[in-house]
Amino acid sequence: MTQSPKPPAQQESQSGFHLLSAANEEDLLRMVVRQMQDPMLQLTTDGTVIYVNSAAETLLGKPAAHFIGQKWQHWVSAPWQERFNDIFLKKNNKLEHQIIPTTEMTIKFNDRDILPANVSMSFIPSKNACFLITLQDLSSHKNEVQKLFQLASTDSLTSLANRRTFLDVLETQWQKYRQQRRPISAIMIDVDFFKIFNDQYGHIHGDKCLQRIAKELTAILPDKECLAARYGGEEFTILLPGHTSAQAQKVAQDLRDKINHLDFCKAGLGSDVCITVSQGIATETNGQYRTAEALLFAADTALYRAKADGRDRVNISM
Ligand code: GH3
Ligand code: MG
Ligand code: MG
Repeated sequence: MTQSPKPPAQQESQSGFHLLSAANEEDLLRMVVRQMQDPMLQLTTDGTVIYVNSAAETLLGKPAAHFIGQKWQHWVSAPWQERFNDIFLKKNNKLEHQIIPTTEMTIKFNDRDILPANVSMSFIPSKNACFLITLQDLSSHKNEVQKLFQLASTDSLTSLANRRTFLDVLETQWQKYRQQRRPISAIMIDVDFFKIFNDQYGHIHGDKCLQRIAKELTAILPDKECLAARYGGEEFTILLPGHTSAQAQKVAQDLRDKINHLDFCKAGLGSDVCITVSQGIATETNGQYRTAEALLFAADTALYRAKADGRDRVNISM
């Protein structure tokens, strides 16, 4: 349970650094682990932590003494906990075969801190056989991946899901709801005469207008499974899994109302400025559409009919 049995003797070398000498192989191993730049833990063959090098102290945020005596297998969750337990309990098995190659795991330490890390475990066949755990912090890598995922899946102007995300979610939900024989609705939305809006008030106001519309779309979603997306340009989509045609019509009418009442005065535009949208709805209830794509195509066709019928209206695919 002690962190370091005895510090290795130190002498000055000719080139100025402290020479470390090890009295025995145990000392030598401890010296090597201590000098390593990678965070490392030394374990007994039953998984008890007996040494934590300074790189690991820095990573784990507490002095080594805090961790000494803990069981490594308690730091990992299923299925890794079972795997480590198997290694540490089956002492009759050949320990030298019990290694864990570098593997991504989530470790939990200090009873609450979570760290995504690459973990490897090596067996050291010294007189007092032990295991060495090496950790590689993956949290900044994970954050970067998360940021990239966010960038790739959302629309930068409106922060809504982008077209790719929408199509992915549509496909997944389509499969799920079709299998459960439950309805699924899609609404295609297009801003009316948006070119004229841009021409009259400029693109900056046009962008702000798209952002305001996006906010209304998000606010109108009836539940967490529903998704609003920017499909492209001034076109938006709403996916309503589990919603009938009548329920989708209610969502579309409410949205129409909200958008008609958008006020652009605060943006410095006149009180007469208003915006409208046209919407097309399609609903799959009992096998009308063979694919998710066909459902979307039907919603788009309904949208074009709404445009042709005079805009600022909701059209339902029959
Ligand atoms: P309709 O009622 O037939 O839909 O008319 P419309 O003018 O909305 O349709 P059209 O397809 O002719 O024009 C779409 C306009 O949307 C043109 C384009 O400049 C504008 N637009 C598309 N994306 C953006 C954007 O990100 N920002 C701004 N400000 N305008 C955009
Ligand atoms: Mg358009
Ligand atoms: Mg338009």
